[in-house]
Amino acid sequence: MIPKYLVDFDLGEIPVRETEVIVIGTGIAGLFAAIKASKDRRVVMITKKGLMESNTRYAQGGIAAVISEEDSPESHRDDTLFAGADFCLRSAVDVLVHEGSEGVRDLIRMGTAFDQENGELALTQEAAHSHRRILHANGDATGYEIVRALSQKVREIENIEILEHHYVIDLITEKDECLGALLQGPDGERFFMRADATILCSGGAGQLYRYTTNPEVATGDGVAIAYRAGALIRDMEFIQFHPTALSYSGAPRFLISEAVRGEGAVLRNIHGDRFMEKYHPQLELAPRDIVARAIVSEMEATKSTFVYLDITHELPETVKNRFPTIYETCIRYGLDITSDWIPVAPAAHYMMGGVQTNLQGETSIARLYACGEVSSTGIHGANRLASNSLTEAIVFGRRIVEQIRELAPLKTAWENISYQEHRTGLVHFKISERKLKLQKTMVRHVGVRRAEDLLRKGLEELQQQTDIFGYELRQGEELEYANMLTCALLVTESALARQESRGGHYREDYPERRDLDWLKRIVRHREKGMLEAAIDDI
Ligand SMILES: Cc1cc2nc3c(=O)[nH]c(=O)nc-3n(C[C@H](O)[C@H](O)[C@H](O)COP(=O)(O)OP(=O)(O)OC[C@H]3O[C@@H](n4cnc5c(N)ncnc54)[C@H](O)[C@@H]3O)c2cc1C
Repeated sequence: MIPKYLVDFDLGEIPVRETEVIVIGTGIAGLFAAIKASKDRRVVMITKKGLMESNTRYAQGGIAAVISEEDSPESHRDDTLFAGADFCLRSAVDVLVHEGSEGVRDLIRMGTAFDQENGELALTQEAAHSHRRILHANGDATGYEIVRALSQKVREIENIEILEHHYVIDLITEKDECLGALLQGPDGERFFMRADATILCSGGAGQLYRYTTNPEVATGDGVAIAYRAGALIRDMEFIQFHPTALSYSGAPRFLISEAVRGEGAVLRNIHGDRFMEKYHPQLELAPRDIVARAIVSEMEATKSTFVYLDITHELPETVKNRFPTIYETCIRYGLDITSDWIPVAPAAHYMMGGVQTNLQGETSIARLYACGEVSSTGIHGANRLASNSLTEAIVFGRRIVEQIRELAPLKTAWENISYQEHRTGLVHFKISERKLKLQKTMVRHVGVRRAEDLLRKGLEELQQQTDIFGYELRQGEELEYANMLTCALLVTESALARQESRGGHYREDYPERRDLDWLKRIVRHREKGMLEAAIDDI
């Protein structure tokens, strides 16, 4: 079994600091919650890298909210439910579609400058949305603008202390109550940060896969940390693969947004043939999971590691104006997308599941809240509707802070808490090699197309790596790798259990949705194992 803590410690022996609220992570969820909470609480924000590094920073398309008079919460709700493959928690979706616009107003008050048109907020329509409801900034650099504005704000607020390059190793819990977090600073020193409330905003897990649009920080730490602490973890089999990430030698898996296909770009295999008509009547604008599987099939048929995305029919000026970030990034690697076809392949993009929360953002552990991609509010169901994740973070961030206002100060004693596993020796192998092995296992066996034999092989390969939990872990990369392995095991075991195809989870051996047997959620608990839960209010 995965241990309760990754390292041995004695809280009586290490330095202790106190605050009122700990916020783990500095993406949109962390920044927004910290600003809100700081109005009447002392907040410590912790991030394992610099303040600006997060998934949020790379978000391109935008943030969905009902702003236009022609739009309605009901329409946003229907689009979200449809994308989620009848697996969304309706009450959570209702919260999202009714409170999204207020959250966006908060973001603007905090300094975010969304693009405008004729003095009004500019709204775009994205695939699978029935109305114009996507706000964006600097064209396709929405996440960067949000992080820029909010991080400037948190630096100005006296009540907020920011600890950059600090790694959260574990949450300290006593009888299902969270007392704070065990941290490791940049010089390797460890200390306990005690708090009345801890908000986990640690983002997703794209790095479990060799090919991902996510930056290096997205290693699933939060899910693994919460799992060890005894929180309920839900829906981990649902991973969204983005169909079109750049696949070009020497370049990162940079996201080539859906909007490019929205502007009429077509997919071609390496022989130059369009192929989407073989797979779906909506061609290139079919749902993300269908396009991703079609691309994988073509890659296999042509023995290639990519297909092409072709937007050369558009005028060069139009392409440059509409997609400045994509254009600039590709040109840096010698690709002129106004005249060259873009090599693309699917890549892990978003984690639909995570730490289970209720509508107030509370987890199953007292004083522990989860917000943003690490959480499982139930909004995304089996497949996330584009641009809903940024909205989810601000809507639930507000709710969490309101909850914390009601919270009495922590009284539980911590002085005598210690943990000893008698771990043997230091890690003597290369973590980078192990990490790569894990990432390749996940691509081959737990990727876009899954099947029982593949998943079993994948699980076996992951289980062979669990010796890591028996070592004395010291370096950040060792702790991170142990978290990746935990998260990968949760995804693989859940994917093996779900014998049907739905949303982001596709089983070749069970290619259909099986509502009679599988309208239920897979919930994981460190001690109780794999549980099944009803899909609350479908
Ligand atoms: C390329 C790309 C494009 C996207 N485009 C869109 C879009 O247009 N619209 C949309 O809605 N969504 C989009 N998404 C998804 C969206 O960006 C993310 O879901 C969202 O930003 C997650 O925010 P977050 O605050 O939950 O986590 P993140 O922004 O990922 O922040 C996580 C933070 O936690 C910290 N952290 C993690 N583990 C630890 C630890 N152990 N100790 C200390 N700190 C830790 C990290 O350093 C980081 O600061 C996109 C994602 C990507 C990758």
